[in-house]
Amino acid sequence: MNALRWLLKWLAKPIIQEGVMLVSLVVLFADYNWYHELQERGYWVAWLRLSLRVFYAYLATWLVVIVNRRWFKLMIYTLATLLFVVESFLQLRFHMDVGPAMFRLIAETNPQESREFITNFVMARPTIKVFALAAVVVGEIAIAERYRHTLAQWIQRIRLQPVLLSVMAVMVGCGAWASLSFVDLFSYHTTERANRWCDLDPVAPNDVVSSLIFALHDFDISNQETSRSMQSNILASQERATLLHPSDSVTLVVVIGESFNKHHSSLYGYPLPTNPRLALERDRGNLMVFSDVVSPFNKTSTVLKEVMTTSNLADGITWDQSPMFSTIFKRAGYQVWLWDNQRHDSPLATFAFTLNAFLYNPQIVPLAYDKLNEQSFALDSELVQDFEQHAQDHLTGRNLVMLHLMGQHFDARERYPHKRLDFNHFTANEVPQQAIALSEDARTHIANYDTATAFNDLVMKMIFDLFSNHNAVVVYFADHGEEVYDWRDFISRTDNMRINAQEAKYQYEVPFVIWCSDRYISQHPQEVAQMQQATSQPLMLDQVCQLLFHLGGIQSPYYQAQHDPLSATFKPSKRILNYVVDYDSLMSQRDSLRIK
Ligand SMILES: [Zn+2]
Repeated sequence: MNALRWLLKWLAKPIIQEGVMLVSLVVLFADYNWYHELQERGYWVAWLRLSLRVFYAYLATWLVVIVNRRWFKLMIYTLATLLFVVESFLQLRFHMDVGPAMFRLIAETNPQESREFITNFVMARPTIKVFALAAVVVGEIAIAERYRHTLAQWIQRIRLQPVLLSVMAVMVGCGAWASLSFVDLFSYHTTERANRWCDLDPVAPNDVVSSLIFALHDFDISNQETSRSMQSNILASQERATLLHPSDSVTLVVVIGESFNKHHSSLYGYPLPTNPRLALERDRGNLMVFSDVVSPFNKTSTVLKEVMTTSNLADGITWDQSPMFSTIFKRAGYQVWLWDNQRHDSPLATFAFTLNAFLYNPQIVPLAYDKLNEQSFALDSELVQDFEQHAQDHLTGRNLVMLHLMGQHFDARERYPHKRLDFNHFTANEVPQQAIALSEDARTHIANYDTATAFNDLVMKMIFDLFSNHNAVVVYFADHGEEVYDWRDFISRTDNMRINAQEAKYQYEVPFVIWCSDRYISQHPQEVAQMQQATSQPLMLDQVCQLLFHLGGIQSPYYQAQHDPLSATFKPSKRILNYVVDYDSLMSQRDSLRIK
């Protein structure tokens, strides 16, 4: 009994002796999204997140009690204040948390850039409110510390101590329990899983301490992945890559669209004319429409890593163990261009950070590309014009051109020029009647999405026109789909391990077309016939590189005929969505249910 009493007393020490510090640290371990989370996810999650902060504060205060030195207490206060200032600065200026991108920035920024950053952001007027806030908080803490004995006496006098102790004990307990969630995080060794934890776990980073723990771990695994990827690219840049037909100078154009639900394309039976220009190219015999292509994931960064490399998910070979296919093209003598309209879009967000850390790794860039865009644009048409300006007189010989669009990314209304009228603008009244009753607002969203699709149709025609006089092939697909109120009252994508047939249909099925210039068609009748035969093959986007190797006439150890849809020895692979769901068996289950 005595031992239990001693233990309880010992555990209660930080609360009794350093109550002011404990509460102060809870404030300094700021969580700017707490109220938003309360509204979004309810009281339980909000309680857990608050308890987690109390738990961190308890641990820090406990250390202070144990060490029992003034300088140590001051050091903990200084560190916590520093964290508070950084988090407040990031939140108030950029609406972001302390994240892995911050470490990348610190690691890669040179003194000149640091100076610019300090003058542009830290010394700027809006930052004054961050310092003002910090001054108020620190001032209040100093006053509370100064009068902490008076405060403690007052609490004892009104007999509040047992109540406060009980509340604190419950919160510290709940926080300790919530912190076990980090055990999961540390068991993940890919950024994909870590980011998913960050998105889905109820106690995942929101407060500054959790964000810091997550950022350190994510930065570490991201570095490991990038260094594996770097090694793969170095190896590929030294490996044999030769041309099957050295006299044939072909230009291959790979266009990666964004959030394109193929069931909103008139090429795939949508009743509104969203793809009139592509349909015309198809009718002229220049465009082939593939009917059965799916993406392995429904998130841009995760898809892009697999698509841009020679990864093969069916064989368990992931992006970080594979070189970029462009490295092999470059090695074989192609001039490689990457014009990426998402390069500068929210570069500090975790998803963009992990993708850009890989795509624009300073050691990979010289191995994988010759020319990169310097600017991103509000509209994809401007990206195409920018590419045209830079490439105009330089598209001689063999070229691999990669264009990454903003496509129909949410909010679709932002993706097309509202005043330009040379493409179809749809209204809420025109959108086809869904099985579910939808509000006017939802129907307007659909109309905007369909209009963005019609503008994308125009952008694609601009690209075809750029290459109409070349010996060129354009391969166009989207990174993933997007639900647009197709079967339920919902727009966007879901992040869950269990994917149902409707989610697979609208979020994972993607449009996939190949366009050939007249010159290419007349010079390559055999390849065109192979493409026509392949249009109904079941494909997944990680196989695109094999098709490109075929079209580019590349002979390399990375070419695998069994995964190349144009090869006579092509064998359809298992198509697993999000690492867990077998797309083909999911769809055949749905079809057999329908027949019954
Ligand atoms: Zn995307």
